[in-house]
Formats: sequence, C-alpha cells, structure tokens
Amino acid sequence: MINIVLFGPPGSGKGTQAQNLIEKFNLKQISTGDLFRYNMKNNTELGKLAKSYIDRGELVPDQVTTDMLIDEVKKPTDAAGFIFDGYPRTANQTEALEKIVKDVLKADISVCLSLIVEDEILVNRLLKRGETSGRTDDSNEEIIRNRIKEYYAKTAEVAELYKKNGKYVEVNGVGEIEDIAGKLYAEVEKIK
Ligand code: AMP
Repeated sequence: MINIVLFGPPGSGKGTQAQNLIEKFNLKQISTGDLFRYNMKNNTELGKLAKSYIDRGELVPDQVTTDMLIDEVKKPTDAAGFIFDGYPRTANQTEALEKIVKDVLKADISVCLSLIVEDEILVNRLLKRGETSGRTDDSNEEIIRNRIKEYYAKTAEVAELYKKNGKYVEVNGVGEIEDIAGKLYAEVEKIK
C-alpha cells in the first residue's frame, strides 16, 4: 500500500494536490475537513459540534476527529492506498494514525509530503477562495489568521515527528499547480 500524509498549513494546496495524486496512483482521499463539512451540511450531531470550533478557526477535539477518521478508514475500498488530507493535525493524532494504519490496514505511513507556503500567501489564497467557497472559515481574515495560529501552535510539531522517523519530505507549494503535482509524483515514485 501507499499511504500518504499530505501535510501543510491551511491554504497550502492539500485538497487540490490530493485530487491529482488520487487519480495518478489510484488512492482514496480522506479529508477530515470535507467530512466535517459534510456533517455540518447535513446538520448531524457531529456537524453541530464541529461547527462550533470550525467557525472560530480552531481545531476540533482529537477524539471526535479520530473516531470519525477510523470509521472512514474501515470502509472497504479497492484503492491502492490512502491520502490523509488534513489529518493528523496534532501529535496525539499522529500517534493515533500510526496505530489505525497498523491495526486496520496492516500497513504503515509511507511518507509525509509537506507543502511549504509562506503565511501571507496563505492568507491571500484563503481570502480569495472565500469569495467562492461558501466556507464560513474562509470568510474573514481574523478567522483565517486564527487557523494559521492553530497550525503553528498545534500542528507544526507533526512535521517534527515524521522527520524523526525519516518519512518527511518538503515540496515548495508555490507555483503552477501542475509543476507542484509533478514534484509530488516524483516523491511518490521514490517510495513505490
Ligand atoms: P480543512 O478543510 O482541512 O482546512 O479543515 C477545516 C477545519 O476543520 C479546520 O480548521 C478544523 O477546524 C477542522 N479540522 C479538519 N481536520 C481536522 C483535524 N485533523 N483535527 C482537528 N480539526 C480538524
């Protein structure tokens, strides 16, 4: 199996690049952000809970997020592996994912691909996306800046954990979408 953690701050292009990678390598994408938005749209209990955090640009608590992820990983698939997009976002989630992939998939995380984009570009991208995405958390600069703050406070350390076990690869996330995709493909080919 190829199991990729697609990593980076909000607005770094994880969702866009996940689309490219799933087609190229026949992978299943699991985006915890998309799963929360699906639940919010359908007004489920999980959606209502998640909304109270998401609308403030804060992370949803680990346990809730991890339980949702486990349900998704357990669904049968004939994909060649998974792309985890937007998960893990804390050290606790990183540990949980290691265990889920081992226990449920009998596999390992192959690589953590990290998209590098500077903060001011992130803010501009998200404000621009907010003009059409309909996402409440893209709609104002204060929320966007809080999401980036959360990233540095809680998520950046995830990179350190993957660095420690030699699975961390950085890719410049600024440039043409196709060029960035090409660099990501090359990294995945190396671990195939
Ligand atoms: P995203 O679509 O990945 O930008 O996620 C949107 C929002 O959903 C985030 O700002 C968080 O509030 C929440 N979220 C998504 N994934 C996670 C996660 N792994 N842990 C905690 N909160 C998450």
